[in-house]
Amino acid sequence: MKQSSKPEDEARERVLKFIDSKLSEQTALIQQLVRIPSISNTVHEGDVQKIVQQELEKIPRLRIDRWEPETAELSKYPLHPIRTGSWNYNGRPNLVGILQGTGGGGRSLILNGHVDVVSPEPVREWNFDPWGGEIKDGRLYGRGSMDMKAGLTSMIYAARAVAESGAKLKGDVILQSVVEEEYGGGGTVAAVVRDYRADAGIICEATGANSIGIASGGSRFFRIKIYGKPEWPHLAHYGVNAIGLASKVYDALLDLDADRANRLRGRHPLLETLRAGGMKGPGRPTNMTIGIMRAGDWPATVAGWAEIEGRVGFPSSESGDDVQKEIERAVKIVAIADPWMKDHPPLVEWWGARREAYEVSPSTPIVETLKKNVDSLVGNCEMYGNSSASDAAYLAPKIGKYGGIPTVSYGPGGARAHTIDEYVNLDEVHHVTRVLAATIIDWCS
Ligand SMILES: [Zn+2]
Repeated sequence: MKQSSKPEDEARERVLKFIDSKLSEQTALIQQLVRIPSISNTVHEGDVQKIVQQELEKIPRLRIDRWEPETAELSKYPLHPIRTGSWNYNGRPNLVGILQGTGGGGRSLILNGHVDVVSPEPVREWNFDPWGGEIKDGRLYGRGSMDMKAGLTSMIYAARAVAESGAKLKGDVILQSVVEEEYGGGGTVAAVVRDYRADAGIICEATGANSIGIASGGSRFFRIKIYGKPEWPHLAHYGVNAIGLASKVYDALLDLDADRANRLRGRHPLLETLRAGGMKGPGRPTNMTIGIMRAGDWPATVAGWAEIEGRVGFPSSESGDDVQKEIERAVKIVAIADPWMKDHPPLVEWWGARREAYEVSPSTPIVETLKKNVDSLVGNCEMYGNSSASDAAYLAPKIGKYGGIPTVSYGPGGARAHTIDEYVNLDEVHHVTRVLAATIIDWCS
């Protein structure tokens, strides 16, 4: 016979009540974190981690692992970010908190969030101080509010509520507060190489309180170096201008992007779904961005060199290696057809993060557990995919001996991440914290 009030239900009620009672404290923490300009690859990431550590220390029985990653360690990961120039993690530690379960068949769970943000420039275009954490009409404004300091506090408060409630967990809860997501995911790669594994992962990125992210694109960054023939003014007609050559390469890349979009259309419906939040039409399973173009160094010299930098995104039906080859081939074809470039071929370099795409099935157990709680605590759960990449790319896809962890994204939404007037909705922060706590209990008990 089932009793009307099981101990788990009582624990769950205590957990949700704890979260409700701490709402203003949690909001103040988001403000405190947003006020630190923790732009990726700066020591301000470490300033955020100091506060996060104080918060983790409030969680009963949590064991804390704090370390500054070593670049040599990171290179054990087969698809580690390619760093050109010097790189280190001095003053930018990772923090992992482990709430150890009692064992006995319980499933473990990784909750992951990043402390870094992107530049708020151009700041003069903002209507709010990007480092102010100002609250207006239920929205908390500032760079990093939505992406993803709010989500970071949700996972911390969810775990704290569970630990305070005395709920008995069999599986471990592993909280990862990582550096450098925006700059290629070195923090999460370091945690993966340190052998943190679990039966499931939740990246607390801003999907929105009623959406679970189950698909994400992969990405590669490229740099194409193009060489012309510099000449001084009176011999300019004997020169070969690298700017003109670069424009041929640029056109070839745009053609390839359009071809790829055509070929992949309809194969990844989740990545093409129309979503709220600024999209004016359907999404696209692949996108190439040409973000940087540099050329020449003197007005009176025919430009002897040019560089194009960009990113290509791709869905889970492709591998990053294949996409790289496709771009190299397109550049080669345009070079062979050009009288100068056929003998002076452009160089294609790959750098930065190398994230693979992934997609998990809606019937994966962690998705079902999370969905059940979203449906009951928020309502109308929807599945969501996005062709941008996140740190889930280091947990979900199997790369060598790493990964293969069923991983989803779930965190409080808002709008305008990476642009002007970013904000997070405070009611979503509250919802997400409750859902995460309930999910920890269901999954790890
Ligand atoms: Zn993020």
